[in-house]
Amino acid sequence: MMNFVTHLECANCQRRYDAARVHNLCTACQRPLWVRYDLKALKKEFPQKALFGRPPTIWRYLEMLPMADPKNIVSLTETITPILETKRLAGEFGVKHLYVKDESRLPTGSFKSRGMAMAISKAKEFGITQVAVPTAGNAGGAMAAYAARAGMKAYVFMPEDTPSINQKECDLAGAKTFLVNGLITDCGRLVGEGKKMKGWFDVSTLKEPYRIEGKKTMGLELAEQFDWELPEVILYPTGGGTGLIGMWKAFAELEALGWLKSAKKPRMISCQSDGCAPIATAFAKGERFAKTFENPATIASGLRVPAAVGDFMILDAVRESGGVALATPEADIPKWMRLASSKEGIALCPETAVCLGALEILLQHGLVKPEEQILIFNTGAAQKYPEAIREELSRIDINKPIEWGNL
Ligand SMILES: *Cc1c(COP(=O)(O)O)cnc(C)c1O
Repeated sequence: MMNFVTHLECANCQRRYDAARVHNLCTACQRPLWVRYDLKALKKEFPQKALFGRPPTIWRYLEMLPMADPKNIVSLTETITPILETKRLAGEFGVKHLYVKDESRLPTGSFKSRGMAMAISKAKEFGITQVAVPTAGNAGGAMAAYAARAGMKAYVFMPEDTPSINQKECDLAGAKTFLVNGLITDCGRLVGEGKKMKGWFDVSTLKEPYRIEGKKTMGLELAEQFDWELPEVILYPTGGGTGLIGMWKAFAELEALGWLKSAKKPRMISCQSDGCAPIATAFAKGERFAKTFENPATIASGLRVPAAVGDFMILDAVRESGGVALATPEADIPKWMRLASSKEGIALCPETAVCLGALEILLQHGLVKPEEQILIFNTGAAQKYPEAIREELSRIDINKPIEWGNL
């Protein structure tokens, strides 16, 4: 058995919990729980060379993950995602090294599968059979798929204007799927009530401890792909913030294991649309806890999170890293999607499109230098957002002669 978990710990009040039991939030302060590991033992018993020859999936980092028994793993093969260096897109911004880590290759077409693979595997380990989640879209799709794979009953609650593909994929995977005439926060309240009334396990972002551990693999993987020397700047589209928080945790743990070649860590840039920017707003005001963003509206559905339970964890990570949180114009999203796709063939999801807007601002203000190594996470497949793509197509009438000169 290879489990190095020591306990769970509240991210706010540091209260400790037994990791062998099922937990959601800290019962004292209703804030998220960290999974803590015996890093000293890990350092001794998990040498870097142990990775050699292991399959290219998130499970290659098993010792740094919370599974007590690997036979409980529920997987659709969460592959290591490629890092694409861009030349033409980098040229558009006048920067030297612009990389895209393409998470759209993961099961269900978004990086939500990292967190859900872990959460559902742990749920299976605990003998849980019914899971529920409020979703802006992709979390529901991923949970539905992993619950199906595990033979669990799944309940998904989504705002009624969630992208159509997400509605269909949840239903297709057999999840009982509800369209709610409210926001994701209303969906979250419904799941909380269902937990009490029906005994569902609540898999909401950061309301159980293991989705962060799944998202942590983004940081582990990235470090290994960069040969343990991290890029200088990471741009991350932020909704609930699990990915940013998870990566920052990954870097701290890798540092404790002595695996990183340099003490210099990336500046974490939290990117949001000005249609829903609670974290960027709190950052600008110097606050640690974010106010609920009123009337959130963005086609980047994964960013439509007006209030994040882990707001302080995101803001702490951004500030510790020397990064910033900022918002970019909602109206520019289609432009950035088209730019990336047409220059590089990389179909960025609308969430990631805001990172290009952020990059432009950062360069203008000298907060990122053109010669720095910049990495953007493409958190999902553009193909999941037909509503966000404004195509300009031409028609051909096969009954008329074709005017080749106009083609
Ligand atoms: C959920 C989601 C996000 C936001 O991720 P968080 O880790 O919750 O901040 C970004 N992009 C896509 C495609 C998503 O599905």
